[in-house]
Amino acid sequence: MEAPVNSTLVLKAPAKVNLFLRITGKRPDGYHDLYTCFHRIDLCDRVELEVSHGGEGVELFCTDPSIPGDRGNLAWRAAEAFLRRTASRVLARIRIEKRIPPGGGLGGGSSDAAAVLVGLNRLFRGPLSHGELMEIGAGLGSDVPFFILDVTSALGTGRGTVLKEVEAGSWWFVLVEPDFGVPTKWVYDNFVLTTPGLTTIFEPDLVSEPRQWSNDLEGVVLPRYPLLSSLKEALASLGAKTALMSGSGSTVFGLFTSRKEARDALGAFPRFEGVKARVARSM
Ligand code: C5P
Repeated sequence: MEAPVNSTLVLKAPAKVNLFLRITGKRPDGYHDLYTCFHRIDLCDRVELEVSHGGEGVELFCTDPSIPGDRGNLAWRAAEAFLRRTASRVLARIRIEKRIPPGGGLGGGSSDAAAVLVGLNRLFRGPLSHGELMEIGAGLGSDVPFFILDVTSALGTGRGTVLKEVEAGSWWFVLVEPDFGVPTKWVYDNFVLTTPGLTTIFEPDLVSEPRQWSNDLEGVVLPRYPLLSSLKEALASLGAKTALMSGSGSTVFGLFTSRKEARDALGAFPRFEGVKARVARSM
């Protein structure tokens, strides 16, 4: 497959929060079945792609030195998968300016990988269909297809890769980020399904009822990291409509209906050692 010589592209790779996350079952493949609402926010990594004929394979540079620059990075594997599927013998260079905190349950690594797939497909003038990109994305990680879908909100079922666009409102968030991440696999490995056999939850009104949103993974993470409970309580006491952990943590978000409410809450947010807070909005 031929790409234009030395072509470059810059993409925004947004973060997500899970407005709610319920676990409905354990799957034979070891993963869990979810009922979740992915919601895109305007905290973005910047992903720069360059395709050249001066070599073969993938090179990756990330501004955050704690993030691997080799196949340990999902974005690297996304590029490799794209080049393999399209039988392209070129050099794909990726430069990631990291703004989404890693290990925070905000999907930054998955979003970077989705941006690489979508971006390379654009640079190569569309050799792969949307369905093929979604399939490659699902093979890379459970959150990747949501970012390929390119919508503000989607209900995710199955592993989180069966998606349906949904209207879940437009919100302001206070994102509270501890200085540690939580390993996703550890969280799921320690999750105990309290209602085994439950395979579907159909609650059509849940999406429009923020006060009923919840995250089943908090049951694993909060007892181990009590700081997150304190962060949730602080957000709730500052008027958040709801305050929840995103994904498998460690980020906690408070939900607000206006920029002013979110800014006021940020201004009044108490100091916790090693914790950063910022305002974000739906995107
Ligand atoms: O798919 P991804 O690589 O992001 O998942 C990381 C880990 O989280 C998996 O190895 C699995 O242990 C767990 N997981 C799960 N069920 C899901 C998504 C993730 O058990 N639906």
